[in-house]
Amino acid sequence: MTAPRVIMIGLDGATWRVLRPWALSGELPNLKRIIEGGATGPLRSTLPPLTPTGWTSAATGKAPGKHGVYSFFRPMRASYRRNVLNARDCRAAKIWQIVNVYGRKAGVVHLPLTYPVDRIDGFMVGGMMTPTTARDVTHPPELLDELETQIPGFTLNVDTTTIKTGRLDEFLADSIEHVRRHRHEMGYLMDTKAWDLFWIMFYNVDPIAHFFWKFMDPKHVGYPGQNPFSNAVLDIYREADLAIGEALERLGPDDHIVLLSDHGMESTHTNVHLTSWLIDEGYLVLRSERRQATSEAMYRAGFQRERLVYALKKAKLGWLPKLFPERMKDKVPRARKTFKEIENNVDWSQTRAYFPSAGGRAIWINLKGREPGGIVDPADFEALRSEIIEKLKALRDDAGQPVARMALTREEAYSGEFIADAPDIALLAEDGFYFAEGIERPVLRPNGTKNTEKSGNHHVDGIVAVFGPGVRRDFGLEGSRIVDVAPTVLHLMGLPTQKDMDGRVLEEALTAEYRETHPVAYDQARIEIEGSDFDYTDDDRGQIEARLKEMGYM
Ligand SMILES: [Zn+2]
Repeated sequence: MTAPRVIMIGLDGATWRVLRPWALSGELPNLKRIIEGGATGPLRSTLPPLTPTGWTSAATGKAPGKHGVYSFFRPMRASYRRNVLNARDCRAAKIWQIVNVYGRKAGVVHLPLTYPVDRIDGFMVGGMMTPTTARDVTHPPELLDELETQIPGFTLNVDTTTIKTGRLDEFLADSIEHVRRHRHEMGYLMDTKAWDLFWIMFYNVDPIAHFFWKFMDPKHVGYPGQNPFSNAVLDIYREADLAIGEALERLGPDDHIVLLSDHGMESTHTNVHLTSWLIDEGYLVLRSERRQATSEAMYRAGFQRERLVYALKKAKLGWLPKLFPERMKDKVPRARKTFKEIENNVDWSQTRAYFPSAGGRAIWINLKGREPGGIVDPADFEALRSEIIEKLKALRDDAGQPVARMALTREEAYSGEFIADAPDIALLAEDGFYFAEGIERPVLRPNGTKNTEKSGNHHVDGIVAVFGPGVRRDFGLEGSRIVDVAPTVLHLMGLPTQKDMDGRVLEEALTAEYRETHPVAYDQARIEIEGSDFDYTDDDRGQIEARLKEMGYM
């Protein structure tokens, strides 16, 4: 008997809301096979349900308090500048390291926060948050050349500059092509390399759902009527479904497929601009309201930096902006308002709380002794935090609907060794509401009125599916959490789950007979976590930040 293998397929931001009906109606035939032949259900994500946090919990079997990844960024400490996280910022052992301890090989392809890549027994290819021009993005290093030879057009990242200039057609075509190439890469790696655990993630499906949701959803406030993009989300999932087919074809008699997403996706009807709310409530003060007002007026007049640069490029004058100093260029507003655009304009000497939205969908107190220009006395911290939480809980839209499903203190939301970097107030929006970036009025504004705006946003419920021998057929899973994935995968590989994981084996997915012959075992592998002295070069960090900004995460 060969040792059982597991193929994990990550679909970033996948939701059963659309996938289940599409699969069952035959649009996604491979997913239909998985649903009918296996156990499927919602998968509760992390708080916040953000990509780096969710995938890190899936990979470690641990909640954020035990791995330390709460967002894309390290919080503002020594300065108000945020630093993009890298793979070394995860403080917990990952499943590929654990399977290596038990003598099993792992292939890890395109997971976020895997740069710098681990030198594992097996192979690794970087994913989201890997610098575009870096060459050291694979393990072993020569694998990159091999992929570039074998997969025509191989790249790690799609061109996101198309989003900010509103060229959605180009962005969509590029993203679908990307998934197709990743599918070919998947087949190639599965066939030519040795692996016991193979984990690939398709990250291009998430931005397509973000930016194209309103085009398929007649109930969305921004639905434009009949339009050429109504099948955009389905079309990219058709490619992902073919990838599921590649996995099914290669499944041995003892092997399993585990399908998962890091969070779900939902239609958003209302943006809640928390920075504007903090200003109105007197918690955040801008240095110059006038400067901000000028910038907003220019923005409303359609005078946007990206459009300008694009127009100049089309007129073969793309060299022109290089003649202007950065400070002058910054006066031309960008297409999407993010915290990054206003953070230099915050008067920290009068600001008590702030919402670096991409910094974790959470609110931070400008605490004396912690933030560089902190003004809130530690003695006043608790009272201020409770006051903000109470006001957030009371915040409602015109119809009287509350906007916040959760507003928790750090201590309520997290526990573990690494909660120092956790936010002061962790937030989860009610269904249909989105805690949006930047300054906009009114604070509550209909979502999706601009093409460059995200009309689908993360939901805390993602997807999970387990398929293979001993799995109950057409079974509905309930109450699965993202931390349950790693223990379940270890168990399906015939390995002990780890005592220090927060998750459990999803045994209810398995038949009584299988459970009888495969009791859950527990162990604790000893794994040295590499220190965090690595940092991106300024150039690489610039590239990653630019991409995150274009995606609206910064
Ligand atoms: Zn995601």
